[in-house]
Amino acid sequence: MKDQLISIVLPVFNEEAGIQATIDTLLNYIEQQEEHYELVFVDDGSQDKSVSIIKNALNLHDNIKLVEFSRNFGHQLAITAGLQYTKGDAVVVMDADLQDPPEVIPQMIKKWNEGYEIVYGKRMQRDGETIFKKFTAKMFYRTFQKLATIDMPLDTGDFRLMDRKAVHQLLKLHEQDPFVRGQVTWIGFRQTSVQYHRQERLAGETKYPLSKMIKLALDGITSFSMKPLQFVNIFSIVPLVSGVLSLGYMIASSSYSLAGVGVTILLFTLGLLMLSIGILGSYLGRVLDQVNNRPRFIVSKTEGFEERNKGIHH
Ligand code: UDP
Ligand code: MG
Repeated sequence: MKDQLISIVLPVFNEEAGIQATIDTLLNYIEQQEEHYELVFVDDGSQDKSVSIIKNALNLHDNIKLVEFSRNFGHQLAITAGLQYTKGDAVVVMDADLQDPPEVIPQMIKKWNEGYEIVYGKRMQRDGETIFKKFTAKMFYRTFQKLATIDMPLDTGDFRLMDRKAVHQLLKLHEQDPFVRGQVTWIGFRQTSVQYHRQERLAGETKYPLSKMIKLALDGITSFSMKPLQFVNIFSIVPLVSGVLSLGYMIASSSYSLAGVGVTILLFTLGLLMLSIGILGSYLGRVLDQVNNRPRFIVSKTEGFEERNKGIHH
């Protein structure tokens, strides 16, 4: 439909190696579409030439916009910020490295026009990613499904289309460390998926080192599941029962020097205790973050959002 405006949000962190190709590919894609498009780049504190490359393109094309963070706040917040600046009737979120192919967008739009407010991309195949990444991701989604109170679809990332109504509701959630794909499931609406083949990264390295992956996984679990907290209770049964049993054994055999048993129980108990404290700590950290109530991110500059009259943009 000709009058629809589609916004594409692209979080960017040190993508100088491939960002020009991403821009060119997207502009070329947009030219062939009936709908109007805007590209909202969110620079998540890049230290390289990403920003200047985007700015050059922005000066040439009315439909390119840029939001700059004052430092690196992380992928999930870059997405959240980007959504705030979109105007489209529908918004698509995608990686800035062309791992999510733009050719999938028309399929998403088709579903959207059929009445779905959320259309997520489901990865059928993932190229160019390490076995470790694929394995841990698979494990994570399956564990998450067991633990969480929401029914998040398996193997979906942040590549998805959302109707304006859904975006509006999503932006009302104010978690300090958002797990966007969980939030999207949580808000409801009519949701469906389109399958796609996740491509190899065009250029550069992944910007998701293990530490960021662990943070994302922990944010996901601690924001959508209370079950680990209940484990703390369940775990405490083990040392308690072992204690009673060893006491019983000592009384029954009237031998009071069971050093071996004692040490085993002690180590085991200590392990459980530390694990329990760790679980509590993860949740407490999240509470503390929320209580601190800092702004979630700081935008240092925006460009391209003012009315520009360089002609019709497609
Ligand atoms: N990204 C970001 N901030 C970060 C890390 C990543 O904005 O702290 C961006 C990155 O530039 C990319 C997207 O988020 O456009 C997804 O990151 P990446 O492609 O490195 O993750 P992967 O696809 O390897 O899981
Ligand atoms: Mg990527």
